[in-house]
Amino acid sequence: MLNETNRQLQAAIAQATELAGRAEQANQAKSQFLANMSHEIRTPLNGVIGMAGLLADTDLTREQRHYAEIIRTSGEALLAVVNDILDFSKIEAGHFVLERAGFDLPTVIDSVVNLLALRAQEKRLKLTAIVEPDVPTRVIGDALRLRQILLNLGGNAVKFTDAGEVVLRVREEATTAARVVLRFTIADTGIGIPADKLDSLFTPFSQVDSSSTRRFGGTGLGLAISRQLVERMGGAIGVESAPGAGSVFWFTASFDLPPQTDSEAEPPRIPGVLAGLHVLVADANANSREMLVKQLAAWGCVCHEAADRASLTTLLRPQPETPAVDVALAAAELLTDGVDAQGVGAHSVGAHSVGAPSVDIYGQQQITGPLIIVMTALTAVSAPNAADPRSAFRSISQPIQRAELYTLLVDVAGRAAQSDAEIRQPMPPAPPPRAEGPSRILLAEDNRVNQMVAVAVLRKLGFQVDVATNGLEAINALRRQPYDLVLMDCQMPEMDGFEATATVRAAAPAELNPQVPIVALTAHAMKGDRERCLAAGMDDYLAKPLQIDEVRAVLRRWLGEAAIG
Ligand code: ADP
Repeated sequence: MLNETNRQLQAAIAQATELAGRAEQANQAKSQFLANMSHEIRTPLNGVIGMAGLLADTDLTREQRHYAEIIRTSGEALLAVVNDILDFSKIEAGHFVLERAGFDLPTVIDSVVNLLALRAQEKRLKLTAIVEPDVPTRVIGDALRLRQILLNLGGNAVKFTDAGEVVLRVREEATTAARVVLRFTIADTGIGIPADKLDSLFTPFSQVDSSSTRRFGGTGLGLAISRQLVERMGGAIGVESAPGAGSVFWFTASFDLPPQTDSEAEPPRIPGVLAGLHVLVADANANSREMLVKQLAAWGCVCHEAADRASLTTLLRPQPETPAVDVALAAAELLTDGVDAQGVGAHSVGAHSVGAPSVDIYGQQQITGPLIIVMTALTAVSAPNAADPRSAFRSISQPIQRAELYTLLVDVAGRAAQSDAEIRQPMPPAPPPRAEGPSRILLAEDNRVNQMVAVAVLRKLGFQVDVATNGLEAINALRRQPYDLVLMDCQMPEMDGFEATATVRAAAPAELNPQVPIVALTAHAMKGDRERCLAAGMDDYLAKPLQIDEVRAVLRRWLGEAAIG
């Protein structure tokens, strides 16, 4: 009897396992299908977006331009949805491996802040990133995917916040000799999320309020993708929120630490240059001050803080009992006339109202010691005379980029040491050599529509273009005559872009120029394969659909300013 039950149980288990296996297979097949479909949809969509962009650049009536613009933005919105679906299904289907490479964590944070800055600025939101001092600078992991998660959460925070601020924070949760677990939080002062919706947020296609799609856009996939990525990074993700009280999204992720070599164990760049520099940090926003003070302290500066105009004024006036301040980093709002100290919250002063610092207090003649660096909003007009190196004012735009602040402070500290010495203008950079006639570009691309978009963009920029439809044709063309640069699609029939590039790089100089700059043309799906492009010997990459500004920037990088028509 017992035996019989046991046998039945085993049979049931076997059957359940088989069903689960089949369900898993079906699920994978579904995801694979989605991935293929998204790819098929993306290709013509690139044509729609690219051509609409070119159309908008032609001689159109206002009405026609308006229509072309709508085609382009609708195309872009659709592409974003398709890209999300593709990404999601790729991860689900297991066609997805995390990269493992050393990267600079603060650089990733800076780039995220940079990308979100404009949208935050448009909504007059204060955006701050605080990396706690114990967080290691170099870690090993997938920088692009980390950036994607941060952009998702940061993008949502900006999207769902109408006033106030968004603060991104990184701190260390646990560490061993070889690994570190980091905790990232993104806090906003936005609309918040009702308690009964919190659980479902991280499942695919969930949105708190489906009518919000029309208001805010989005697919409801961002958080689901983020969760999958976070879990692959050995972490967890969650949120604390209440309607009207803002949201705090957090996630953890674990990274390997590079072995400590002498060169990597170094303190901040060029130690000593900033050590002991007395810096006054003046900003009404506490998070902003905290971010600056932590960063400055890491460089060895001695910090003083002012939260309002009154204490800024006091600290700027040299007094016997307070140590002299060498440099003041002051939010433009605190220097602006007509704003009282209480009312200088970041959102109460719009970027447009940032005016000239009041000269009676801070005017050049009366400044005995500190040089003032004015922190302006991204879109603000810069402080007067900011570009003049002899001025007592310099400016830096918020959100502050570490590297920029460092360079500015080193510059300023150097100046202080030279006291009244003439400040020499740096030599203007030498203009790049002028090309003889228009540069010749070889485009290797198999898709007709993509060819048309690329050729039109390149001609518009004043280049001569020849087209090859696969890697083999490209190599033959390069053998026939020299080109200044190659734009190389990655996936092509007969010989793909990777193989073609490898062939070019291995070629004898007598046969063709093995060093010709090669710029990969990649689709969004290739994002994780960016390293692959570079590893294959390509020099740079451009994402499809080609945007004329991006093409211009990349070509300028490789061919010089003068090459662009
Ligand atoms: P979407 O593309 O719709 O933004 P997400 O998966 O990123 O998709 O987010 C799902 C939903 O979660 C959003 O539609 C929104 O309702 C809610 N949500 C996400 N982040 C926030 C936030 N910071 N504040 C308020 N609601 C949020």
